[in-house]
Amino acid sequence: MHPAQLPPRRALPWRLNEPHSTMPIHWFPGHMHATKKALVKRLPDIDVVIELLDARLPGSSANPLLAELVDLAGGKPALKVLNKQDLADPERTALWLAHYQAQPGTQALALDASDAAPARKLVAACRALVPLRGGMVKPVRVLICGIPNVGKSTLMNTLNGQRVAKTGDEPGITKTQQKIALAPDFYLVDTPGLLWPRIVVAESGYHLAASGGIGRNAYDEEEVALALLARVREAYGERLRARYKLDDFSAATDEGLLADIARKRGGLRAGGQVNLQKAAEIAINDFRSGAWGRISLETPQEFMQWLACGEALESERQAKALARPLRRGKTITPMGGAGDMDEGAPPV
Ligand code: GDP
Repeated sequence: MHPAQLPPRRALPWRLNEPHSTMPIHWFPGHMHATKKALVKRLPDIDVVIELLDARLPGSSANPLLAELVDLAGGKPALKVLNKQDLADPERTALWLAHYQAQPGTQALALDASDAAPARKLVAACRALVPLRGGMVKPVRVLICGIPNVGKSTLMNTLNGQRVAKTGDEPGITKTQQKIALAPDFYLVDTPGLLWPRIVVAESGYHLAASGGIGRNAYDEEEVALALLARVREAYGERLRARYKLDDFSAATDEGLLADIARKRGGLRAGGQVNLQKAAEIAINDFRSGAWGRISLETPQEFMQWLACGEALESERQAKALARPLRRGKTITPMGGAGDMDEGAPPV
């Protein structure tokens, strides 16, 4: 669905202060089925799967559906590419790279759009994963996947040396499939952005929304900005203080901090009331553009804990759903949960 046709903005059905509640994002639009089918069909002829991740939120920007489909195809050597490393905290990026490198059949590297020669790095990393392939008889066939807005088109354009697909910061723009040869015996196939059947990690919903991985019609900016500030103030509080010229805010609530940002940034309505919506937009945009400096929202250790909590809650939810008869209009999603087949829901 084109973003212009999206229904009016609505809040996501998850709440702050319930960090491990599930956030059912009940959509599974038609083209998702097509993407899934295309992937399943293509995987048998693929040697390496590159997953493009957002270096600021590697765990949250990994789509569990991709892992599921690759497993169904019998597993594939994987290259995790942490893109937008120019915006991420280098220390945390190093932790994530080590985390992925420790996984069997997996290589990892960090990139950014300004990287002049990503092709050489990508080709070398993929070749190392499949040393028995190469040459014209057995070319290396690589599939590149990633969630919307993670930088797939930008990377493909850089690799291709020309502008081949529309890039923009609004997720969910459908792109046609491309195939590019990075060497005579090495080619890369692109896929349209994979959508989530369901987000089970509460923190991931916030991180994806804050980074631009979820369409802006699907969340409430104030809620997302509060979650973002809560997260960022823990490790990077000084950056916020410097950016907005704030006094010590260690005793302030997250709402108080957002209100302070509103006051400093012209977010006051007539009568002196603070405009939290405006402050939320400023905070989110500043995070996205890197105005707070290089920040990563998660470490591997934290993410693994969130994932364990999210999966435990998801299992409980599924057990409850199975124990009661399905209501009319409900279907089973591929993750096994009961979801609305809501064609009118916003894309991620
Ligand atoms: P796609 O939906 O995955 O194809 O994402 P795009 O390639 O359209 O990129 C989404 C946005 O992220 C665009 O505004 C890009 O300019 C920006 N972007 C992509 N890669 C990088 C990167 O490595 N660093 C930074 N700072 N921005 C990037």
